[in-house]
Amino acid sequence: MTARTEPALSGTVPFLHSQPRVWIFDMDDTLLASSAGILDEVHVLMNDFLIRRMGFSREKANFLREYYWRTYGSTFIGLWRCHGVDPRVFLPAVHDFDYAPYLTGLKSMRAVLSKFPGRRVLMTNGPRNYADAILPAIGLKGFFDLEVTSSDMRLFGDWRPKPSVAMMKALAARLGVKSRDAVLVDDSLLNLRAAKLAGMRTVWCIGMRRRHAGLRMPWNAPMAHPAIDLVVCNVEELLRRIGRI
Ligand SMILES: [Mg+2]
Repeated sequence: MTARTEPALSGTVPFLHSQPRVWIFDMDDTLLASSAGILDEVHVLMNDFLIRRMGFSREKANFLREYYWRTYGSTFIGLWRCHGVDPRVFLPAVHDFDYAPYLTGLKSMRAVLSKFPGRRVLMTNGPRNYADAILPAIGLKGFFDLEVTSSDMRLFGDWRPKPSVAMMKALAARLGVKSRDAVLVDDSLLNLRAAKLAGMRTVWCIGMRRRHAGLRMPWNAPMAHPAIDLVVCNVEELLRRIGRI
């Protein structure tokens, strides 16, 4: 077997023209390699939910789970909009499993994230109980200035998880910054497109993403996209790119 070499990374100089005031970090496949196992458990429980509670065949359940994820950026918002499934029921149900096998030996991210200047915010499409389980395992319990989970992502009575442009704008307003002074660091191109449309700066963190992301660029493709200001393998690489280590 021949080892593959890392692709060349690219980034745009304008990203560095001024210091961002807020760094908004995604969690899954940005701060830990969730698609290496833990997200597979979530997908199994999502399928079970669709089969047992909604009466779908296994094939249809699997198809819809993926289809809604690709179409809406999250499965739960597709189920909410197309089937009226209450996210307050769905999200806890599909994140209710033993995390312990996945949480041992994870690298603490606290020292790394502490080096980012300005405020640090977590924004995950996982629900609150999921974030509460993950964050201590990567040394980030109580670390962030603000934690936004899918359990909290509602605007005017409707659910607005990532990739909602309105939610990104609302988050900047809540933080009291102009959108251009905030950066979203995420592995999802859909989410980054929304952040860019909201006026934020964007960092595509691609090193941990695997098949769950679904939007992986072809190997050796140019690492450039109109919605992306900077492409990095991981947050350590991002720190180097902004000159903090
Ligand atoms: Mg992610």
